[in-house]
Amino acid sequence: MSTAPDLSVVIPVYNEELNLPLLFSRLYPVLDGLGRTYEVIFTNDGSADKSLALLKAQFAARPEVTRVIDFNANYGQHMAIMAAFERVRGQVIVTLDADLQNPPEEIPKLLMLIGAGHDYVGGFRMNRKDSLFRTVASKVINGVRRTTTSIEMTDQGCMLRAYSRAIIDAIVRSGAINTFIPALAYSFSGNPAEVGVRHEERHAGVSNYSLYQLIRLNFDLITGFSLAPLQYFTMFAGLCAAGSFAMVLVLAYGRLFLHDDTNGVFTLFGILFFLISVAMIGIGLIGEYVGRTYQVVRVRQRYHVREMIEKAQ
Ligand code: UDP
Ligand code: MG
Repeated sequence: MSTAPDLSVVIPVYNEELNLPLLFSRLYPVLDGLGRTYEVIFTNDGSADKSLALLKAQFAARPEVTRVIDFNANYGQHMAIMAAFERVRGQVIVTLDADLQNPPEEIPKLLMLIGAGHDYVGGFRMNRKDSLFRTVASKVINGVRRTTTSIEMTDQGCMLRAYSRAIIDAIVRSGAINTFIPALAYSFSGNPAEVGVRHEERHAGVSNYSLYQLIRLNFDLITGFSLAPLQYFTMFAGLCAAGSFAMVLVLAYGRLFLHDDTNGVFTLFGILFFLISVAMIGIGLIGEYVGRTYQVVRVRQRYHVREMIEKAQ
């Protein structure tokens, strides 16, 4: 392709051999029907199945509009998206899951809002088709995010989203790692919008996210965007210190003025609690600074691309 396309569609792929054929057969017609130039960038995130072979076959079938980034190992969904963001050529970028949980037929809805002047359009899943556990866990996390960060989002887990090129460039420049792309994009957006999108059950296979990875991802969401956990810890320690200091005063008053000698051990405990609380505040404060330092120094190579499969421009 000699000229840059209008639209870039970004799809992370990890062990999706059962879903890719149907994804291709549903996605490309939708994009062909848009009447705009486009490219689809797949990132093979270290799949152990036939995903890479299927992606190569799709490249062979539609070389003008297909690009494949092949990672040497599994770096996670958000890094796979990031690698594609660093290479997009379109002016509007859409992200999508490969398992058909986000129907490709919903893409035009997002593009309409971008066309209306929004620089970021987040999808939220109408009647979500995930396990009860996933749905409840994501409600809890939504609540935590709302109280600890200033990110407003109905459904942070939905990856069907559209972004203007300026937002993507800002994300790439930020060099963030361990990041949560929808939240990062939101923080750079000047005029965000949301739209309800259909959600379907995973077409085939099982979710690639283990419980541990989900917890990690959500830790990244909270610690990547705010120091609130550290600050709450310091505040809690402060409350403990104030409480135990009051206890020391009460016990000391009893001892000195009421000659209440039965509380010797408690006085000691009171003092001990107070000192422990002071130590906790200290740890919290150190944590604050470690957190700030971490925010500055966490720049490092995030993934390794084994091969780029694309037509020379
Ligand atoms: N994915 C990926 N790397 C991973 C895990 C997932 O690229 O380590 C991709 C996966 O192929 C899919 C998308 O990210 O396109 C969402 O993954 P999944 O469906 O497993 O997550 P869920 O829908 O359960 O949140
Ligand atoms: Mg899925």
